Amino acid sequence: MNRLPTLFVSHGSPMLAIEDSPARQFLLEVGKTLPRPKAILVASAHWESIGGPAVTLAERPETIHDFGGFPQALYDIRYAASGAPEMAAHAATLLEQNGFAMKRSVSRGLDHGAWVPLRLMYPDADIPVAQVSVLRGASPADHERMGRALSGLRDDGVLIIGSGSLTHNLYELRGHDINAEVPAWVSDFDMWMKDRLEKNERDALLHYRAQAPSAVRNHPTEEHLSPLFVAMGAAGETAKARRLHSSYEFGVLAMDMYAFG
Ligand code: ZN
Repeated sequence: MNRLPTLFVSHGSPMLAIEDSPARQFLLEVGKTLPRPKAILVASAHWESIGGPAVTLAERPETIHDFGGFPQALYDIRYAASGAPEMAAHAATLLEQNGFAMKRSVSRGLDHGAWVPLRLMYPDADIPVAQVSVLRGASPADHERMGRALSGLRDDGVLIIGSGSLTHNLYELRGHDINAEVPAWVSDFDMWMKDRLEKNERDALLHYRAQAPSAVRNHPTEEHLSPLFVAMGAAGETAKARRLHSSYEFGVLAMDMYAFG
């Protein structure tokens, strides 16, 4: 079968689930443009582990509402996809074979980095889903290596999604205007990443923190960019990125979506 591309999705605010925006419209359409996956593995910014990656082996993963201060409508949402314990166990084995110390959880559900975009892409919740964590304090190269370890899953029809945000400085998120003006330090970083991704300049990308303009300001911590490197690694070394969508929300969130391969 045709190998699926891997995806990087910017999941924005949890409000993406219920409040319309260009990014939300994109996610509503993109699922229909891809071959139907047999299962989905999401590397989410909202699940960090230390020392080694973790995977969910839950058969019926619960919907985790891992945010505070949002409207009740968001807390009422359940994304009822079944888990993918066999695929997740295979993922764990592949990671172990590549030198990662694994953790396995049978109780961990789906965080909003997974279910918010998946509910838009696959509203029928009829494709099994598992998650893999990102590594707190690990480098882009470590996450790229995680992705490479997982790339064989694509031969089994697994869609690998990195879910984070192309830019993510919530300290500088002022007010609640989704159409707030975009500062140059955000758009300059976004453009630098786009150029390097589309030219597949992996060395520069893996050293983005030293080389990209305002990298640390856009990512005070790295967990929302780490999923990009997992998706990049899983696509294989020669896979160039295509930017499928670009928009901004609240001035400081670049909602870019990429396909690799
Ligand atoms: Zn997030």
